[in-house]
Amino acid sequence: LVTRMQPFGTTIFAEMSALAVRTGSINLGQGFPDTDGPPEMLDAAAHALRNGRNQYPPGPGVPELRAAISAHQKEYWGLDYDPDGEIVVTAGATEAIAAAILALCDAGDEVVCFEPYYDSYAASIALAGAVRRPVTLTPDESGEGYAFDATQLRAAFGPRTKLVLLNSPHNPTGKVFSREELTLIAELCQEFDAVAVTDEVYEHLVYDGLAHIPIATLPDMRERTIQISSAGKTFSCTGWKVGWACGPASLVSAVLRVKQFLTFVNAGPLQPAVAVALGLGSSYVDGVRAALESKRDRLCAGLSSAGFRVLRSSGTYFVTVDLGSGADGISYCRSLPERCGVVAVPTQVFYDNVDQGRRLIRFAFCKRDDVLDEAVRRLRLLE
Ligand code: PMP
Ligand code: GLN
Repeated sequence: LVTRMQPFGTTIFAEMSALAVRTGSINLGQGFPDTDGPPEMLDAAAHALRNGRNQYPPGPGVPELRAAISAHQKEYWGLDYDPDGEIVVTAGATEAIAAAILALCDAGDEVVCFEPYYDSYAASIALAGAVRRPVTLTPDESGEGYAFDATQLRAAFGPRTKLVLLNSPHNPTGKVFSREELTLIAELCQEFDAVAVTDEVYEHLVYDGLAHIPIATLPDMRERTIQISSAGKTFSCTGWKVGWACGPASLVSAVLRVKQFLTFVNAGPLQPAVAVALGLGSSYVDGVRAALESKRDRLCAGLSSAGFRVLRSSGTYFVTVDLGSGADGISYCRSLPERCGVVAVPTQVFYDNVDQGRRLIRFAFCKRDDVLDEAVRRLRLLE
């Protein structure tokens, strides 16, 4: 069956997680935590299930969740969004991203995105019949960060640019975009009248004292940004698929128009529970960040001790290693489970310019310390 979706096959996460199960390996491929989120949130979900919250919620999301998202945006980022009209709850960030692209792009319109990019981006752009214009994030010589070329960024914009898809903190690199970089992107959005669609699912997972800066907080950007996040990462509930999009009413209503016909509504009893989680305040969020920062350090030190060249990750669940010239990450990741019982993900599948990522593979560190330690023990046994 040859359609425009035919090239997309099976996602790398599904392939690698199935390989982990089949070989009984430790799965440091797909990014999901192996411990539960806050008990208050879990209790609230159980309560909602037992107390009649099991039918269709309102289209934009239950009022208490929209109010909690609004308060969270204000508390952390100083952004004001009206719960009635400027916030929509979605089936994960994934649906919000897809709905935003489908809402804003007609066939042939262009989307600027930074490669390597999260795998749903290319698929959602293709669903809309739009065209991706990748800008490459390249690791610097020292392995201490990733940068893009400003000339390549400018060249990616043109008369058909409809939106920029920006993910910071960035999966898979762990890059946290700086204010200078965001300013450059914001200026181009204004010059070319493009909308920024921002994937900020790792908004709270930023390390080394760095700050996450939503591009919506830059001058004149709130009015042209759809800011997207999710409960999955912050509250360790990736299977709940509760996400949201915030922005000016004109943009959010366009997202909602599409969402109506993708899922209509989602996660009725889980939405009030996420509202409880968002209300837990900064001590919970700070605890998650501190725990993950120490896991990042633990895995990075272990990978280095096993002989890998580790590229710095400043955020997210992930760290990338460079296997060196001549290496191919896909064949490496396919054989790693047989060789030592550990699963990782080849980063090259997130590139259009695959040569840029051929040598790179990604490990997830959102796992219990004993699991990380056992993975490192196994990797140290490699020849
Ligand atoms: N964006 C990025 C960058 C991600 O890593 C993920 C992975 N979970 C998502 C979006 C999807 O989020 P959700 O599960 O809320 O759809
Ligand atoms: N976001 C997760 C990752 O990058 C996986 C999500 C998925 O499996 N689609 O590993």
